Amino acid sequence: MTASGYAVFGQPIAHSLSPRIHAMFAAQIGIALDYRAIEASLDDFASKLDAFAREGGAGANVTLPLKQEAARVCTEISDRARRAESVNTLIRADNGWRGDSTDGIGFLRDLRDRHRFEPHGKRALLLGAGGAARAVAFALVEAGSELTIANRTRERAEMLADATRSQVIDWSALADAHPFDLVVHATAAGHGDASMTLPTAPIGGSTLAYDLSYGAAAAPFLAWAHGAGARTIDGLGMLVEQAAESFAIWHGKTPATGPVYAALRAMR
Ligand code: NAP
Repeated sequence: MTASGYAVFGQPIAHSLSPRIHAMFAAQIGIALDYRAIEASLDDFASKLDAFAREGGAGANVTLPLKQEAARVCTEISDRARRAESVNTLIRADNGWRGDSTDGIGFLRDLRDRHRFEPHGKRALLLGAGGAARAVAFALVEAGSELTIANRTRERAEMLADATRSQVIDWSALADAHPFDLVVHATAAGHGDASMTLPTAPIGGSTLAYDLSYGAAAAPFLAWAHGAGARTIDGLGMLVEQAAESFAIWHGKTPATGPVYAALRAMR
């Protein structure tokens, strides 16, 4: 690895699109980039990150299931990462790693710039209260949405609602909810075998349903939302936007995301 290597850590990581996305950004900007995927579990992430730093690692992305662990290994953390309790971007500093979270801004940019949805003044329902959901919750509230949160573990929804001055709705009460302008699916349910049943009441004729995941993991939620009459969006655009923000932090240049998004969409 060169003295300025980059990587994405996670498990599983073999199918991560991040190396491809960063390679396309680098080609566009005209820089040589060494960006690889490194498989790491919660048990060996810290030691693999140390080895990466010793070899000259300058920056890293972190994905499931390491985003909270990444926050713990940082010597410094940004405000937005602290609020999300999640780090997806690591920047090498003299005294260790600085952690940041680009998920919230990536989500908002995709929502506003690509899908032309302005969240200000809109009623939004957020399903989930993990790291990505926390980043999205702060982004939506700061953008002026009126936010309601539902999570399998109600306690976590309550903590997030307290921090964002939002409301909580019980999963079981969703059947009696009025339609929302925006429904964001931010649980990890699609990655496992567990099925998640949702009533259609939160969906109305003009609801936009957004799944943070993409591919097979997004299929159940998007099928449910589409069946209930919503316009649907998967998380591919957010993936590209959050990567562009990481890229800008590391290299000081913001790549154009449109061509990269189009290329990935065409491949899929
Ligand atoms: P996380 O921190 O592990 O949070 C997991 C969340 O999912 C929790 O709210 C958890 O509820 C809930 N959950 C898990 N299994 C469930 C089930 N069977 N039924 C209902 N709820 C369930 O994960 P994360 O980092 O926030 O990621 C969440 C999703 O966002 C993942 O699909 C990830 O791929 C996606 N994501 C996409 C992007 C992008 O750029 N497109 C970026 C970040 C994340 P409990 O609190 O009850 O455990």
